[in-house]
Amino acid sequence: MNVEHHLQADTLAAYAAGSLPAAMALVVTCHTEVCASCRSELRRAEALGGHMLERLPLQPVSASARDAMLALLDSQPEPAAAPARPAPSAQQSAVKGGIFMPNALKNLLQADSYEQLRWRKLAPGIEKLELPLSEGRSFMLRIAEGKSMPVHTHKSSELTLIMQGGYSDALGDFNVGDIADLDGSVEHQPVAFADEPCICLAGMDGGLRFRALIPTLLKPFTRL
Ligand SMILES: [Zn+2]
Repeated sequence: MNVEHHLQADTLAAYAAGSLPAAMALVVTCHTEVCASCRSELRRAEALGGHMLERLPLQPVSASARDAMLALLDSQPEPAAAPARPAPSAQQSAVKGGIFMPNALKNLLQADSYEQLRWRKLAPGIEKLELPLSEGRSFMLRIAEGKSMPVHTHKSSELTLIMQGGYSDALGDFNVGDIADLDGSVEHQPVAFADEPCICLAGMDGGLRFRALIPTLLKPFTRL
């Protein structure tokens, strides 16, 4: 799978440290099922985190210490080339017919297909499914071909993983397996590709904030 959009280093470090809310950790888990590059970065973050815990006195981590750790992560040499290891069969079968169904999501949903899910209409051409996670907000969206979301920013961090189809926004094209790792400063308006519906999984620790508030038109989206 040709993944072009990856997780940020600080997101991987937070995941490795166990400090991401469950809603966001789910999206990271699903992306690493299909992305060898982020799996490799995650192993480095976990190894470095364990190494630092063994040596550091227990003190609150300051911003400068975090930056130093991230710089250290960046400076770590890539592991020597290891013999190619075949991916587990579960990973090989995670993408079928252009549709990505991660094992973590399959287990959570207790479903083999997105068609089996009880989607709820959110707005014309947009359906939503809330996921039962206690920390943060987790949901899936199914956006009809060519349909756009309203322009919005985020109150805080948001991860969005493409499971089927894809969308375009100011940051580029996002295809199956790609992840958008956004903070509150990003304003965007995803538009689903014209040839098939877009299904994505989103995890966040806050809500969405719409720029153009037209109450009756956007009311369905305020439930996001
Ligand atoms: Zn990745």
